[in-house]
Amino acid sequence: MSRENCLFCKIAAGEIASAKVYEDAVCVAFDDVSPQAPTHILIVPREHFDSLDKARENHKETLGHLLLIAGKIARDKGFAENGYRTVINTNGDGGQTVFHLHVHLLGGRPFIFPPG
Ligand code: 5GP
Ligand code: ZN
Repeated sequence: MSRENCLFCKIAAGEIASAKVYEDAVCVAFDDVSPQAPTHILIVPREHFDSLDKARENHKETLGHLLLIAGKIARDKGFAENGYRTVINTNGDGGQTVFHLHVHLLGGRPFIFPPG
């Protein structure tokens, strides 16, 4: 997936509409269009990289930031204490379908492990 033709780059830039729940200089968070839980939010870096498989040393701060923001959103939404699930799907076997790295934040119901 090239940056020029990337759905999540376009959502992060505001060129494609989304229900944004949080944004800052590093990332944007918005509701997943096909929610798998009462709350299902995608947290994406503004910087494009395809997947965790493509992450390198220079992405370290960004990756840490995405997880800290997931925790903050979970607290702000009120389900942090009950618990929640964060997921990063990577490449084919990981179930990744959009090749701009993103963290799924799911909350509002119990989750089983391991996932399917
Ligand atoms: P992946 O399968 O790559 O881990 O996750 C991609 C996610 O993006 C899926 O959960 C899917 O529902 C979501 N998604 C795909 N297209 C759109 C879209 O246009 N808008 C939003 N908000 N989410 C999308
Ligand atoms: Zn992108």
